Amino acid sequence: MRVLVLLGPPGAGKGTQAVLLAQRLDLVHIATGDLLREHQRQGTPLGLQARSYMEKGLLVPDNLVIQMLLERLRKPDCLQRGCVLDGFPRTLEQARALDEALGPNGVERVVLVQVSEGELVRRLGGRWICRTCQRPYHTVSSPPKVPGRCDVDGGELYQREDDRPEAVRQRLRVYQEQTAPLVAYYRRQGKLVEVNGEGEVEAVHRSILEAVQAPSPATDSR
Ligand code: AMP
Repeated sequence: MRVLVLLGPPGAGKGTQAVLLAQRLDLVHIATGDLLREHQRQGTPLGLQARSYMEKGLLVPDNLVIQMLLERLRKPDCLQRGCVLDGFPRTLEQARALDEALGPNGVERVVLVQVSEGELVRRLGGRWICRTCQRPYHTVSSPPKVPGRCDVDGGELYQREDDRPEAVRQRLRVYQEQTAPLVAYYRRQGKLVEVNGEGEVEAVHRSILEAVQAPSPATDSR
């Protein structure tokens, strides 16, 4: 199965870019954060278990997220078309579970979207999301045409609990401690490509496309 991974800190634009990349390459977009929020809305046992972690900006325990993701990967759309993973894996344990599930070839390519810390805080602080379609807006860089309403479907815009300042700082700490080690993990596998995530959405999209279509980067042992 063709699996591409977008890796990067919260606020790097993974969500926006994952949607564009999936559309362009006709892959299924899978965002574990969206799946977990959907479980919460529906009040499933997983949603209830995940809520307190998510509100504090902590990671949901590996066993819960891994099971949810592997179930999603087994659905026919993924099996037939492959997928772009957004927000998974976030720990070494998740990366290993994914490799095991995918077999010898593992993931095809991992794109690290790089953005400076100051820019991340600015972006996350102004982020508002449509309750209906999950499309993100930003009070400064991409405001909706009508304040508080989604341009596409008129849905109500809301600020995620974990986009508040204290939770944002916590999420950045969690990224450094638990997710950043994946950079070395995938670099060793020769799968990692790095892209500057600070440009215009369209320009970043083009860099990501080039990065996933370029020949495989050399394996190294850093
Ligand atoms: P996101 O929408 O990707 O920023 O994810 C929002 C929150 O969902 C995170 O802060 C975590 O609490 C939880 N979450 C999403 N993906 C994962 C994952 N792969 N592992 C653990 N927790 C996750």
